[in-house]
This record gives sequence, C-alpha cells and structure tokens, in this order.
Amino acid sequence: MRVAMIGTGYVGLVSGACFADFGHIVTCVDKDASKIERLKNGIMPIYEPGLDALVASNVEEERLFFTTDAAEAIKDADAVFIAVGTPSRRGDGHADLSYVYAAAEEIAGLMDGFTVVVTKSTVPVGTGDEVEDIIRKARPDGDFAVVSNPEFLREGAAIKDFKIPDRVVVGTEDERARQLMRELYRPLFLNETPILFTDRRTSELIKYAANAFLAVKITFINEMADLCEKVGANVQEVSRGIGLDNRIGRKFLNAGPGYGGSCFPKDTLALSKTANDVGAPVRIVDTVVEVNKARKKAMADKVIAAMGGDVKGKTIGVLGLAFKQNTDDMRDAPSLDILPALMAAGAKVRAYDPEAMTEAAHLLEGVDFATSPYDAIQNADAMVIITEWDQFRALDFERVKAALNTNIVVDLRNIYSPEDMAARGFAYTSIGRP
Ligand code: NAD
Repeated sequence: MRVAMIGTGYVGLVSGACFADFGHIVTCVDKDASKIERLKNGIMPIYEPGLDALVASNVEEERLFFTTDAAEAIKDADAVFIAVGTPSRRGDGHADLSYVYAAAEEIAGLMDGFTVVVTKSTVPVGTGDEVEDIIRKARPDGDFAVVSNPEFLREGAAIKDFKIPDRVVVGTEDERARQLMRELYRPLFLNETPILFTDRRTSELIKYAANAFLAVKITFINEMADLCEKVGANVQEVSRGIGLDNRIGRKFLNAGPGYGGSCFPKDTLALSKTANDVGAPVRIVDTVVEVNKARKKAMADKVIAAMGGDVKGKTIGVLGLAFKQNTDDMRDAPSLDILPALMAAGAKVRAYDPEAMTEAAHLLEGVDFATSPYDAIQNADAMVIITEWDQFRALDFERVKAALNTNIVVDLRNIYSPEDMAARGFAYTSIGRP
C-alpha cells in the first residue's frame, strides 16, 4: 500500500517510519525544507529513542522517502495522512486548524483515483466534516473518503506505542475506507491489538476524552500530594494504595510538577472550548486546566521556600528541562514556568538537559546551559530536579556534595527516597512525602 504522510513531526515521522516497517511504501512530506534535508542525510530532526535506526533501515529497503513536494507523495497514494500540528489558537485556546485545512486543500488538488484521507492530527469533533467539505468543494467529482484515526503514541516510547498500541481507533462509515485501514494496520492483528471502528465524530472525541481523563488523573494525584504535605501522609503510598485497585489502575499516578508537553495542555483546553460552545461544559476538565496552570507556577515557590524563602543573588542548578524524560520536546514544559519565576525572584539559573537544551535555548532567556549535571550544580546554592531522566536517577552524591555550596536538593519528580537523602546529609524536599 502507498502512504503519504503530510507533516513529518513527532507523529508524522514516527507513524511514517512504522508504516514503512509494516511493509508499506511511505513518503513523508514536510514544508520545512531543512527538516527534509536532514532526514535525507540520515539526521533525525527530533530525539526519539530507536527512531534513527528504524528510519535508516526503511530508507535502505526503499520503503521510506522524504520530500517537500506534496504532489510527488500524494499522486499515487492510497492513503494520505494529515499529521500536521494543531496548536492552541492564540487568544481563545481553541485548536488552530489552519494547518489541517491547508493540508486538505493541498490534498484536494493533488489526489488521483480513490484516496482515503486520514486525519491523524488531534482535531475537534466535526473537523473531519470540514475536511470533507473542503475537498468536495475543490473536487466535486473526487473519489475519496475522510477518516479519523487519532494517534495515542507517547513521545519517548513512540515506536513501541505505535507498533504495540493498546488500541487503534478508526472513525469512518465508508466501507472501502474501513477495508483500507484494516489492511494498513494488518500487522497489528498478529498481536491482537483491538481495532475499534466508530463513526468519525466519536473517533475524534475519543482522543480528547482520553487525554482529558489522563490529565484529570495526574491532577488528582498532584492535589493529593498537596494534601499529603499538609497532613503528614505519603503520596507515593497513597498512589500505590489506590492504584492496586483495578478500577483505578496504577499508571499516571505519579505526583509531580504538573503536566506539560505538546498534547495535554492544548487538548484539555480545546475540549473545554468545544464543550462550552455546544452548551455541555466539562467542568472537571475546566478545573484541571486551572489547577495545573497554578501548580506549575507554585513549583517555583516550593523551590524558593526550600532555599529559605529568598533566592536573590543565589544560583540554582537545574536538572532536566524537557516536559518528560526521553524527549527533546519543550512544548508547555513545567520548566518554562518554573525557571523564569526563579529568575524573576532574583536567582541565577544554570541548567542541564541531555537532549532539550538546543530547543530550550530559544525559550529560556537568561538561563546558563551546562555540559553535565555536575557542571549545572557547580557552586550552586541548590540542586533542583525537574525532569526524571534516567541519568539523574543514579547521581554520584559525593560529587553532588562536593559541587554544591549547600545541602539543598529539591526533587519535583520524587526520584529519590527522603530517608536515603536525609541519611546522606541532604536537606531534601520532594512532592507529597514527609
Ligand atoms: P509537530 O509540530 O512536531 O509536526 C508537525 C509538522 O507538520 C511540522 O514539521 C510542520 O512543518 C509540518 N506541516 C505543517 N503544515 C504542513 C503542510 N501543509 N505540509 C507539510 N507539512 C506541514 O507536531 P506533532 O507533535 O507531530 O503533532 C501533530 C499532531 O499530532 C497534533 O495534532 C498533535 O496534537 C497530535 N499528536 C501529537 C502527539 C505527540 O506526542 N507529539 C501524540 C498524539 C497526537
């Protein structure tokens, strides 16, 4: 099967490479010529574990191609995926669909023969109808179907998530499109992945409902952590104690600095806007959005409190900037709220992240970037862990002690044990633990 992937970002590139690995012939298209140039030279534009090898082997086998020329990709394609960004629209928080609609226009002008147009981008309910109208207007005689196929992969584990997903959701009422989608995902039948066929609107909503539910879960445990701090309880044990109940489940119950990333913040906001527009407000989600926003800001106060209430003229060594480990994605990362607030309070910040510093440099003015975790905390007045990278989980504490001017450690990911840290002589602050 021939696949065109419009948009070669985190989702388009991983999906394209995985479909190629399934045996399909995939051409990934992007408007960003430098991204395509780098890919043609075997250089990954993003950090995602295992992606370089997957791309290289499929390029070598001549199943995966990169181009800036949409015509080249779309003309012979059986399926054209739209995997462009849908960021929050400035001002009102609705999803900005301009890239999706522009891609639809482009596809309309170039498709040839029966074509299944698949929206992989996360889009509000009804966007598929709009995409269909755009294409129908431009090509009244066109033979096509528009399908919703939301993506659930997580950055940092994207290849595994794509190849061994919990489920695949396909929204269409067109039988030919359904057959084609079944064929595209056929390798997944081997591991008995549930493939859920729904109507298009339901499929579009499933994606937002899933992300909103996960955001609720994280925010719930974060508030429990605050409560634990007040009453002298331990949030990690609360989390385990409730998570062992199968109705609740153990995942997404790690208290931390508030969710960030390219999906939860914008998707919760977009869902809330859609729900308000149609008169069916999702008040739990509205509250989660507000609580999470406030939490990220409150994390700076937590650091300041741990440093005695005043950070003027002090240096803070920060470990981790990306919104989570194993990615270089800085979109809506908690560090983007925490670091500016610390600097506004008069601190100097020196930070280290294994993969996200290039991206962070555009977004965090005034921060010094270090060459290693130990370089970040050299002569600093506190060490603050913001992202749970594996390499921060096993620090050499003799080196940490020698580097720091004080014994203050703030761990916003609970990667160390309070007892161990106290025994090592650190004044250790974490989230929701005595
Ligand atoms: P991204 O910003 O990394 O990539 C989008 C790419 O599309 C960019 O490279 C951009 O240059 C390109 N593009 C835009 N318009 C184009 C056009 N007309 N033709 C060719 N290329 C074009 O975005 P992403 O993180 O991959 O997200 C894409 C969509 O997938 C979003 O709707 C997002 O919500 C959703 N999603 C993302 C994730 C994730 O973890 N990143 C997970 C699931 C779903």
